[in-house]
Amino acid sequence: MKHAIASVCLSGDLRQKIEAAAAAGFSGIEIFENDLLLFDQPPQVVKRIADDHGIAIVALQPFRDFECMPAHLMARNLDRAQRKFDVMDALGTSTLFICSNVSTQTIDSRALASEHLHTLAKLAAERNLQLGYEALAWGRYVSRYEDAWEIVKQADHPHLGIVLDSFHLFARGGDLSLLAEIPGDKITLVQIADAPWLDMDVLQWSRHFRCFPGQGDLPVVAFMQKVMQTGYDGYVSHEIFNDEFRSSPGTSTAQDGKRSLLWLEDEVIKSTPDILAPPLLDQHNFPPSPSVNDVEFIEFATAGDSRKALLALIQALGFIQTHQHRHKDVALFRNGDVSLVLNQEPDSFAQNHYLVHGTSVCAIAYQVENAEDMVRRAEYFSYPGFAAHPENGEMRIPGIRGMNGELVYFVQALAAQRRFFDVDFMPLEIPAPTPAYAMRVDHITSGIAESEFLSTSLFYRALFGLDIAQPQDLIDPHGLIVSRTATSADKKIRLPFNMSRSGNASTERFRQNHAGSGVQHIALHCSDILNYVKHLDPSVVLPIPQNYYDDLDARYDLPDELASQLRRYNLLYDESQTGHFIHFYTKPINGLFFEIVQRNQYANYGEANAAVRMAAQARL
Ligand code: MG
Ligand code: MG
Repeated sequence: MKHAIASVCLSGDLRQKIEAAAAAGFSGIEIFENDLLLFDQPPQVVKRIADDHGIAIVALQPFRDFECMPAHLMARNLDRAQRKFDVMDALGTSTLFICSNVSTQTIDSRALASEHLHTLAKLAAERNLQLGYEALAWGRYVSRYEDAWEIVKQADHPHLGIVLDSFHLFARGGDLSLLAEIPGDKITLVQIADAPWLDMDVLQWSRHFRCFPGQGDLPVVAFMQKVMQTGYDGYVSHEIFNDEFRSSPGTSTAQDGKRSLLWLEDEVIKSTPDILAPPLLDQHNFPPSPSVNDVEFIEFATAGDSRKALLALIQALGFIQTHQHRHKDVALFRNGDVSLVLNQEPDSFAQNHYLVHGTSVCAIAYQVENAEDMVRRAEYFSYPGFAAHPENGEMRIPGIRGMNGELVYFVQALAAQRRFFDVDFMPLEIPAPTPAYAMRVDHITSGIAESEFLSTSLFYRALFGLDIAQPQDLIDPHGLIVSRTATSADKKIRLPFNMSRSGNASTERFRQNHAGSGVQHIALHCSDILNYVKHLDPSVVLPIPQNYYDDLDARYDLPDELASQLRRYNLLYDESQTGHFIHFYTKPINGLFFEIVQRNQYANYGEANAAVRMAAQARL
């Protein structure tokens, strides 16, 4: 698969777009005509910039409103095409895309469309140029690739092929069956775009919400499987119109674009290895498979009085210091199977993190089957590593930089039940906690910026191999919060991430407090929340208004005992078709808070109660 990107995906001027695409490792770029019109240098200079960066201009696009125009307009259209051919010569590109006509003057006739495209292909052939015809999902009479293919077939000219664009294809039904009929050499170029499933006007959906494969919900892997089965071996090119991309640095967007194609390619070849002929398959450099099994520990950067506050909170939640690091000012607190590390070692990454963010989560360690493989997988996708410098025989825990400035550690499952703390930490003599509850990490929620939302989706999908749920809206008293969740197949890893465009909503208030994105809330699962909460200092619990409980009584037929316990202990309740969920929240420290949950055959997150929680937090 040769990787290209359309200039329209990236922010900046044409020079910056070419530089960003080349730096990310693309070997081709499509020049969107508008980017050329807005550039203050002639096409010859654009060609030189591309040559200097070792990137091919794979196409000029789009050529609009050409076919099926009334006779008196066709001479003008052909002249217009000749001028575009001149521009292509100067750019050093041989391919022009013609998108299906949207003009109100266009005539509804496939025969005429074929005839006009044949005429244009003859002109293109004289200059040894290639044409690709693309069905726009909002084309006036041609909106499906099936129709575009009929027209290209009828036009029957070697200098005319079809452009396949996954977005248009899925926006118009997404029947992939006809793809098998198209010979690979009649495909001029493949454009790839993902998108969230949205029930809205197709043009608006396309202009604002397209995203890279791996960031949306369209079956892009199935699409690429079918395309590769045609024998097509040309460029696969991103064509993404997206409001976030327009305002994000082009270099990081291009890098995500490259990751996205690497992910797509890997998914396609992994699931259908016979797509590649044996020599190509042997040469294909598969990344190691992801193997993230569980959360091993959560590390906090903290110091001074704010450390005291955090300590008081986690001790109130039943955490006890069980270990002390052998050489560093790092303490381990445990409760059930949850490990919280409090790091106040001077001159460490953690202390730098604390200076910027205050008390905060500075690292999350995941238990993985093979830590070195996860690091190699991160390298494959160009996620930056983090060099730890183990001292005095410490366990080397490889890591990378996570999405929000925190570190991500990969802790290899050790033999014979040994854990990370058996290597680097000394056990303290402590009494066993009474009563004991089975505790484990349920979910870890991050508050991030809108511009990080798609990158975060890709990070968890491509690198961790997690499933990404569709976005959900949560109502905050000061704005709307959009939430997605990354989960592992067995649900041991659940990572919601939230963003808001409203400066005063919970997510943004957290980001202001915390000086940037990061972990906002940590939910722990408790095996017996009703007993657990009875032994808890009630002052740490987020108070919930009585109106909530009146409504709960009206909505559900709960046993009196349970209803009164929920009310008394500020517990929240939700039901699904399969089970129920009881949970409560702590008051925050530096915007960060804990949630204790108990799931009973329940797979969600108590989203129905999120508004109650956020209103309660806004009152603090
Ligand atoms: Mg397109
Ligand atoms: Mg939660």
